[in-house]
Amino acid sequence: MTGGTDATVPKIYGWCPGALRPMMSGDGLVVRIRAPLGRLSSQQARAIAALSLKHGNGLIDLSARANLQLRGVRESDLRDLIAALQDLGLVEQEATAEARRNALVTPFWQPNDTSHAIAVDLNAALTEATDLVLPGKFGFAVDCGIPLQLQNTAADIRLERSGADLLLVADGAQTGLPVQAAHAVEEAIALARWFLDQGGAPEGRGRMRPLIARRGPPPAHVAARATPTPQQGLGPTAIGRLVALEFGQISAHDFDMLAQLGPLRLTPWRMLLVEGVQDIAAQPGLILAATDPRLQVRACTGAPGCLQALSSTRDLARDLAPFVPEGALLHVSGWAKGCAHPGPAALVLTATAPDTFDLIHHGKAADQPLRETLSASALRAAPTILTEGS
Ligand code: SF4
Repeated sequence: MTGGTDATVPKIYGWCPGALRPMMSGDGLVVRIRAPLGRLSSQQARAIAALSLKHGNGLIDLSARANLQLRGVRESDLRDLIAALQDLGLVEQEATAEARRNALVTPFWQPNDTSHAIAVDLNAALTEATDLVLPGKFGFAVDCGIPLQLQNTAADIRLERSGADLLLVADGAQTGLPVQAAHAVEEAIALARWFLDQGGAPEGRGRMRPLIARRGPPPAHVAARATPTPQQGLGPTAIGRLVALEFGQISAHDFDMLAQLGPLRLTPWRMLLVEGVQDIAAQPGLILAATDPRLQVRACTGAPGCLQALSSTRDLARDLAPFVPEGALLHVSGWAKGCAHPGPAALVLTATAPDTFDLIHHGKAADQPLRETLSASALRAAPTILTEGS
């Protein structure tokens, strides 16, 4: 099975590829852009599309933290690319400030509303907090509108609405601390320091959730959180149209096309929100209909884009998408790490060799398989293999 050998034990890097600390992948450097407030003006977005074509391979990923990642960047081009991104106001001057500014805000913020005001202040406070050394993936979520949008999105410290109150919540806790908007940022920073003081990040790594599981939230965190609400789906919204990206990736050409329609908001759901627009022309890599079967598949970069991948993934996921039962999710993973979907899925194919996969039901990419060494061609020829034995 997948998890036993050195070749298949997932490597935990504990950090993400920032613009100032890019990561090498199978198709070149990956350069991450953390857009302030998750919004790009049309001019910024069009410039990014041009930079992707000039310095990268013309492919742009949208991550689960609502960051853009330019792929295939040549090492010799990195300096010019970073300088251009800094000119656009999209990259800090210094890597540690860039890493600390890890705050997500609901994509549906409006100018000067509570989410917007808090997110602006939080970004400024994190940039200035030079003594605050948090783990690379440690992040904040600002979700103060109605309805809540980020409850299912990974974050360590949350500022979220609960009825008339704002709550400060340590991830993993069912309760939080009521805070006034004017003090929300200082309370959030204090909670980050509490996390460090409690030993949440031994050796510089760690997340809030396991700490809360071990010792519970701070004693003053006793107010009930709001009942979970469904996340906004694909299609028209009050701000513009939400369009999904096949496998969370878009070509520079399509990105430029969307940017010509309006400013873009980046979501953590592999969707872009195009401001002020309700009609968007169909393109092969864009998903416009809620019934599109590609919404029921997740697939990581796979080979050749990922150095650790044992097989390509997305071509198979695309071919099998129409055969995934309604309401189920198929996760195709290049190996046991399961980057595209860390949680369990109804159907999982984990590569063990080129075009060879283990099949797992109701589990994660590294779980015990129901069937082993299925070839991609056999799966294509008889997609019912996927659900046999369910
Ligand atoms: S799960 Fe996919 S993207 Fe992640 S390391 Fe493995 S092959 Fe690469």
